[in-house]
Amino acid sequence: MTLQRTFIMVKPDGVKRGLIGEIIKRFDQKGFTLLNAELMTVDRSKAEYHYMEHQNKPFFGELVDFITSAPVFAMVWEGENIIEVSRLMIGKTSPLEALPGTIRGDFAFTKEENVIHGSDSLLSAEREIENFFGLLKKRISKDDFPFEDRKSV
Ligand code: UDP
Repeated sequence: MTLQRTFIMVKPDGVKRGLIGEIIKRFDQKGFTLLNAELMTVDRSKAEYHYMEHQNKPFFGELVDFITSAPVFAMVWEGENIIEVSRLMIGKTSPLEALPGTIRGDFAFTKEENVIHGSDSLLSAEREIENFFGLLKKRISKDDFPFEDRKSV
């Protein structure tokens, strides 16, 4: 059993296109548990820290402009092997490679504005959750859910 937490973010294009509900639905129906969520505007320092691994890439400036341009819907989800499984659900970065049935395959048509972000490793998940929600702020655990057995229905 490998219970993990990951950081999932509906990007500004996904929020504008009304995809928040669809994305929550997919993670919820998969059996994952939503631990935290907030509609927020991201400032440049938070966006730069979030995408620090891309700071030397030619698209870095435009990526930060995009993420800070309008509200995002940031979430923390928990579940079995969720980091790997959520990346499968999200699909590849490029619309030419994102398969139908994945979130990007079904909704994204450019590699720059591709609807959703999901952490790609345990280390980035921890860093990204802390960047967006803080270490202690509003951290709730699966034990706080009184309706645990709903997932087995
Ligand atoms: N991105 C971009 N141009 C590129 C590659 C990536 O604007 O040529 C953006 C895109 O929004 C992507 C993000 O940078 O989702 C992070 O890139 P990464 O390779 O980490 O892809 P992801 O993990 O989001 O699939």
